[in-house]
Amino acid sequence: MPVKAGVIRAGARTTRRGSTETFTGVVFQDPVITAEAPSRLGGSVVTFTPGARTAWHSHPVGQTLFCLSGVGRICFKGEKPQVLNPGDTVNIPPDTLHWHGASPDRLFSHLALSEAGEQGQGTSWGPHVTDTEYNEPATT
Ligand code: MN
Repeated sequence: MPVKAGVIRAGARTTRRGSTETFTGVVFQDPVITAEAPSRLGGSVVTFTPGARTAWHSHPVGQTLFCLSGVGRICFKGEKPQVLNPGDTVNIPPDTLHWHGASPDRLFSHLALSEAGEQGQGTSWGPHVTDTEYNEPATT
C-alpha cells in the first residue's frame, strides 16, 4: 500500500514508555516515522529523564541521532562516554555496540533514525548499562 500523502497530527499518536527490558530509568518515545515499504526508515523522538539510558545495543544499518534538547550521553564500546548537546548529530555505524541517554542530572531528547535490515532485522539488544559504566566521566 502506498504511503498516504498528508499530515499526521501530533494528537493522533500517543507517547509510549520505553521498555524496562531495553532501557534503564524513565524514557518516553514519540513516533515520527513508521517504516512503510519501500522505505525501511523508522524514527522517533526519545526523551530520557535524568540518569535514564538505553541498554547496550547495535543497529543492522546504523543509526543517526539528532540532539534536540537538554544534555545527553553517547558511548561506543571501548570508549569513554561523550557529552551531547542540542544540535549535535551522532553517526552510529552498522553493527556497532553503543548506548545513549540523558546526563545524570538533566533531561535529554533526541530524534533517532534507523533503517531495518534487508531481511527486516531490527535493533540487537544486549545487557543493561551498569551504574559504573554510566557514571564514567564523560568527555566533551
Ligand atoms: Mn542506538
